Amino acid sequence: MTDEVKHNKRDIGTIAASVGVAEDAAHHGIAPPLWTADTSEWASPTDKPDYDYSRTVNPNRTLLVRALAALEGAQGGVVTNSGQSAALLALLLLKQGARVVAPHDCYGGTYRLLQGMEERGVLRAVFVDQGDSAALAAALADGADMLWLESPSNPLLRIVDIAACAKAGKQAGALVLADNTLPTPCRQKPLALGCDIVLHSTTKAINGHNDLFGGALLAGDPSIVERIEWWANAAGLSGSAHDAWQILRGLRTLPLRVDRQEKTARAVAAWLADHEQVLEVHYPGLSSHPDYELAARQQSGPGFMLSFRIKGGEAGTRKFVQALELVTLASSLGGFATLICTPASMTHRGMPPEAQAEAGILPDLLRVSIGLEGAEDLIADFERGFAAT
Ligand SMILES: *Cc1c(COP(=O)(O)O)cnc(C)c1O
Repeated sequence: MTDEVKHNKRDIGTIAASVGVAEDAAHHGIAPPLWTADTSEWASPTDKPDYDYSRTVNPNRTLLVRALAALEGAQGGVVTNSGQSAALLALLLLKQGARVVAPHDCYGGTYRLLQGMEERGVLRAVFVDQGDSAALAAALADGADMLWLESPSNPLLRIVDIAACAKAGKQAGALVLADNTLPTPCRQKPLALGCDIVLHSTTKAINGHNDLFGGALLAGDPSIVERIEWWANAAGLSGSAHDAWQILRGLRTLPLRVDRQEKTARAVAAWLADHEQVLEVHYPGLSSHPDYELAARQQSGPGFMLSFRIKGGEAGTRKFVQALELVTLASSLGGFATLICTPASMTHRGMPPEAQAEAGILPDLLRVSIGLEGAEDLIADFERGFAAT
């Protein structure tokens, strides 16, 4: 039985806790060992071993792909050495001059990669507000080879209707990709919503321990999986054995961490929404969120990311973050430690100011990735921040 069939109806916690367990034929270890060998012995010149060369295949990467594919309902895919190399891998599937329709408020690194590829004449990047279905339809009507989706968006936690976008993208003949890093497969399953490809930065919640970087690209169609594997090998984008081993270790507790981080995020978001020094809070779990109902339908929970604007402008955000004692000023997200950042000057600084303004990334915006600390302690720390502004 394939993992996909076996895990179809299983609880997400069961999948995370069981893939690769007690499969070590050599010593019967419960946890999978780390296989670092770059190459394996051939029995004869025509008997290729399963794991002939580690850029192409490695047992630790295979296990991690099995776990991620089972979680996403994918047929397979590739574990890459970063989220960005997974993005590059997705773009390598396209022909020269392909049109890629991406969100105007996509991840900063995605924006930079698409812009850079466009400047080299490799592809044409079209950034559009995908929450505006007429604007999306107009962008697709000009022809699209790939529709890039990211919901909830970062840092504004905007939600797009993935099933409707995927349908429109498919009708236009595009390959539809969803960056599922923020919600994780614990909260959203893009393949079930009609997407062809799922992208992850495993640097974030999937590893969850702020101690490595990695990525993954998964697909539901075996022929796409094959193309992904071919290009990952051809371009040398695969992740290391050690990272794959460690990411699977982190993944064991992903469902547990997401539950706890989300519960805390709900409490912090509700507290911020009532705070007199807050201008607005972006969190899909608040009924004030413009897409609250869509989020409730499309995701199995609002997740652990939120952003908010405070009174006092950019200078206020500086004083706020410098007064914090528990929460750390840093980019990245999804780990055990709560991190705060000012997207305009940090995560999204690669975007020109006009593009930032267009996407609504204002200088007084703060983005928070809630970790595993107690809600009361985080709230007390933010109160320290407000007191300093
Ligand atoms: C971090 C991130 C990426 C890029 O991943 P890296 O591992 O940093 O290369 C892509 N998309 C989203 C949504 C991210 O948060």
